[in-house]
Amino acid sequence: MTKHFSILLILLIFLSSCEGNNKNREPQKVTETKIDKEKQAQEKAQKAMQAKIDQYVKVKLTTDTSKLTDNEKKVIVHLIKAAQYMDPAFWEQTYGDKQSLMQKIKDSLTKVYADINYGPWDRLDDNKPFVEGFGEKPAGANFYPHDMTKEEFEKVSLKDKTSQYTILRRDKDGKLYTIPYHQAYEKYLKPASEELLEAAKFAGNKQFKEYLQLRAKALLDDNFQPSDMQWMDMKTNHLDIVIGPIENYEDQLYNYKTAYEGVVLVKDMDWSKKLEKFIKFLPELQKNLPVAPEYKQEKPGTRSDLNAYDVVYYAGDANTGGKTIAINLPNDEEVQLKKGTRRLQLKNVMKAKFDQILVPIANMIITPDQRKHIKFDAFFANTMFHEVAHGLGIKKTINGKGMARTALKEHYSAIEEGKADILGLYMVDQLHKKGELDGDMKDYMTTFMASIFRSIRFGAADAHGVANMIRFNYFKEQGAFTRNPDGTYKVNYDKMYEAMRTLSALLLKLQGDGDYEGVAKLVKEKGIIPEQLKKDLQKLNDAHIPVDIIFDQGVETLGLGL
Ligand SMILES: [Zn+2]
Repeated sequence: MTKHFSILLILLIFLSSCEGNNKNREPQKVTETKIDKEKQAQEKAQKAMQAKIDQYVKVKLTTDTSKLTDNEKKVIVHLIKAAQYMDPAFWEQTYGDKQSLMQKIKDSLTKVYADINYGPWDRLDDNKPFVEGFGEKPAGANFYPHDMTKEEFEKVSLKDKTSQYTILRRDKDGKLYTIPYHQAYEKYLKPASEELLEAAKFAGNKQFKEYLQLRAKALLDDNFQPSDMQWMDMKTNHLDIVIGPIENYEDQLYNYKTAYEGVVLVKDMDWSKKLEKFIKFLPELQKNLPVAPEYKQEKPGTRSDLNAYDVVYYAGDANTGGKTIAINLPNDEEVQLKKGTRRLQLKNVMKAKFDQILVPIANMIITPDQRKHIKFDAFFANTMFHEVAHGLGIKKTINGKGMARTALKEHYSAIEEGKADILGLYMVDQLHKKGELDGDMKDYMTTFMASIFRSIRFGAADAHGVANMIRFNYFKEQGAFTRNPDGTYKVNYDKMYEAMRTLSALLLKLQGDGDYEGVAKLVKEKGIIPEQLKKDLQKLNDAHIPVDIIFDQGVETLGLGL
């Protein structure tokens, strides 16, 4: 639709610009050639932009609404409205005023792509600008003044400058000061908070009602801990919402500042029961980690839970770039130590990515006789245990450098994601050995390998992308796979098994030592895409295999329109 409309638009512009140029023959010829060239250039640009948009395949976000009561339907409508306010808040955090950007863009396809990216920088292409007049994306997004240097930040004495819930600005004398989130984004937070309170009125589940009320308050005072605690205490709810400033990936300068997002969820009660049983293995899995004893002293919360959900709405940070298929929250380490974490497996989104992206990738890039090992159950387990693995390992350094998150600064996210990926596979292996997981270990490993290709396509701007590049290069070095002359890849299961153990140990040690230099070196040396791989990934693009998904979502899509 959009494509045809745009071509029509170009034609109209072209036709109308031909008028009024008929004064004499010579200039007209020149003008025609010029217009031809302009038209060609424009068509080429349109094609390139359409190709960018086509990197995302559109997926409908639905759930079985026959399982919802009338009150639950009302709750969902209010939750979606609350989540929608996270969009403009996130726009301001990552870019600034959305409307002013949209006004600068003339072309309709570019507008569509700016909307998908929440700004003029391409999240699937290392944040390269795709709108004329824009340079590199500021590493600190719009959390800090764009001209602020790291040196200046480190020197200035502002007690809440590293807070997850403040932005920095300059006063009229150029001096840095902080603004708390609840003030900076008040105009979106107030109505979002009211929608949560509206939802709470119809919420039948008492714990869920209390959570919504506490969260509504937290949005207005940036004190999220009480609502995080309540969220962990809440066990029997059917509906859920993740809302507020949560992940810190958007702040690539320091990973301090959190970004607003909203994810509205319907719990799959049957699946969740099946997943429950894995939790009791956590302490044992922690004890067996393939690393020296001093790096596995911390106790994982055994009250953690693992549930499967259908997502019915994504907004803000969660709706950007490579969409998350699993969530592990809360991030607050104090809550984690007291109550553990909750892992949310986003089943409908996972299945969409498996069918639309992973299977087509494997069919091109995995050696033919190993393709039978690409299975959704394996993909589901690998992803599930990635989330479990976030709760394992080591959070506090063993040498007085404080929390690993703080010590590893901007590299923390990539290392933490890499740890979760590789320890996830390690756990699958452990549970498989105990007879708790069915299937062939080759299914899990081959599907894991195919997933690396999927995730590297997210690019170096994404913590998961970097984590996967590191792992690809490490695996290559260890002979965990080989590349066939025809460009397909073959897993070497024994060597991959060894590499899985040594890479786990390496990452856990870097975190436990708070070894910033070591991590920076690893990212620099291994967080890159080798030329050969670049070419192989290009083949996937040429075959138009989507990189990720975008959503057809909302009250109407769910059929809940009033
Ligand atoms: Zn993760």
